[in-house]
Amino acid sequence: MNYLKNLTLILLLSITHSTYGQTSKKNIVIIISDDHAYQTIGAYGSHIAKTPNIDRLAKEGTVFNKAYVTNSICGPSRATLLTGKYSHKNGFKDNETSNFDHSQDLFVKRLRNAGYKTAWIGKQHLGNNPQGFDYSSILIGQGHYFNPDFINTDGTRERVEGYVSDIVTQKATSWLDTLDKTAPFCLIIGHKATHRTWMPDPKDFGKYDDAIISLPETFYDTYEGRQAAKEQEMSIAKDMQMGYDLKMYKNPIELRKDGNFARMTEQQFNKYLAYYKPIHEKLEMANLSDKALAEWKYRRYMIDYLNTAESMDRNIGTVLNYLDENDLTDNTIVIYLSDQGFYMGEHGWFDKRFMYEESFRTPMLARLPGVIKPNTITNAMVMNVDIAPTLLELANVEKPKDMQGVSFLPTLKNNNKKTRKGMFYHYYENGEHAVSPHFGVSDGRYKLIRFYKRVEGWELFDLEADPNELNNVYGKAKYRNIQNRMEKILRKEVQNLQDEDAANILQNIR
Ligand code: CA
Repeated sequence: MNYLKNLTLILLLSITHSTYGQTSKKNIVIIISDDHAYQTIGAYGSHIAKTPNIDRLAKEGTVFNKAYVTNSICGPSRATLLTGKYSHKNGFKDNETSNFDHSQDLFVKRLRNAGYKTAWIGKQHLGNNPQGFDYSSILIGQGHYFNPDFINTDGTRERVEGYVSDIVTQKATSWLDTLDKTAPFCLIIGHKATHRTWMPDPKDFGKYDDAIISLPETFYDTYEGRQAAKEQEMSIAKDMQMGYDLKMYKNPIELRKDGNFARMTEQQFNKYLAYYKPIHEKLEMANLSDKALAEWKYRRYMIDYLNTAESMDRNIGTVLNYLDENDLTDNTIVIYLSDQGFYMGEHGWFDKRFMYEESFRTPMLARLPGVIKPNTITNAMVMNVDIAPTLLELANVEKPKDMQGVSFLPTLKNNNKKTRKGMFYHYYENGEHAVSPHFGVSDGRYKLIRFYKRVEGWELFDLEADPNELNNVYGKAKYRNIQNRMEKILRKEVQNLQDEDAANILQNIR
C-alpha cells in the first residue's frame, strides 16, 4: 500500500515537473490570419498548397482537426478571441453595424495585470482604439496589401511602403527585440492575408501557374432543399468580379483606378501589370462563357489565393526562426489560426458566413514543447471562444466568471482529451453576400441550423452520411428522433449561453 502510494506520488511529481517545470510563465504568440481555408494547408491534406512553415507547427505540435468559430466573419471572430464570449455577449455581432467596446474584460488585460507584456500587430478589424496592449500597431480598417496604413499605440498614423505580410512581421519581431525577456509576453500577429482581393507579393507570382487544380465535388451544387444557400450572393460564377477580384480590367488605366492599385508605387504596379497583362490577353482571345468561364474564374481565384498565402507562410517561418534564434521556442506557445474558414469553390462559392463546414471550421495548430506532443492530430472539438480561457489557465491567471469558452488545456496536454460535446453558432450579418442570419448547433456528427430574417427555415445534416452537406434531412421520418434530440440540445445551448435573440426566435416558432 505504502509502496503504491509512494509510486503514485513519484508519478504525480514527475508529471507536474514535466509540464510545469519552468517557473517562469509561458510566452504566447498567436498568429491569426484572415479567411485562410484549411483546404489550402499542407498539414490539412492539401496536395496543391505549399505551406512549409504552418506545416512545421504540425510537425512540432498538434493539428486541431475540429476547430470551429462561433460566428464566421472577420471582426466578430477577433472579438470572440479577445473576450472568450459569444457575439451576443461581447456586443460585436457583425462587421456592418457593431462597435467593439474595448473597455471589456479582455484576456490580454488579465495577462497584462499578471505581468505579461502584450502587443497586437497587424489586422484587428475592431475599430482604431485597441485596449489591453503595451504596444499596438494595427492596420486601419480592413488594411491594404500594399503600402498599408497603421495606427500606433499613441494614436499616430503611418503609411509603410512595402508588402503587408512582411511589414507586419517586421513590426512584430522589432517589438520582441525591445523586450528585456524577464517578463513573459503575449504577442498577437494579425495577418491581412488571405483576405479578398487576394493580392500576392509579386515575388510569388507564377508559383501555382502550372498547378493541377481540380474542381471541388460540389462546385455545381444546385442547392436543393437549402433555400439560404440558393439565395446567397457569393458564387464564383455569378458574383466574383472579373475586375475587382480577378484583376481583369479592360486596360491598365482601369486597373490603376482600382483603389488597391491606385496606392501602389510605379514599380509595384509595373510588376502586377507584367504578370496580369498576358493573362488578360489570353482570356480575351479565349472568349469564354458559361461553365468554361466559371472554371477559368475558379482557377484564377485559386492561383491568386495560393500565391497570397505564400508570403504569409514565409513570414510565419520568420517568426518561428526568431523564436529559435532567441531561445524562446521552448517556453512559448505558438497558435496559428484563421478568423474563420473559407470556401474554395465548394458549393460554387468564395467567402464564408455559413455554418456549413468549410466556413464554420477554421484551421488551428498549436505548438508548446514539453506540453503539446509533437506531430499529433486532435479530433477534440474546440472553438475560438475557448482560446481566451485556455491561455489564462495556461498562464495560471483567473478567468472572468462570465467568460463562456471552455479551456482546452487538457487537450493540449493530451490530444485524446475532449472538452466539448457540442458547439453553438450564430451568424447575424444580413447584408453583403446576402447570407441569411442563422444559428445552430453541431455535435460533430449532426448539425441543426435555424435560418431567420432573410430565409425562414430549418436544416439538419448527417455529416457522416453526407459530409458535403447537400442533403437537408430536416423533417425526414428517419431522422425524427435525432431532430428532436438536436432541437433539445439547441434550446439548452441557447438558454445556457443566454442568447436572447435566438431564444425569442425559438419561442415564436413553437
Ligand atoms: Ca475573415
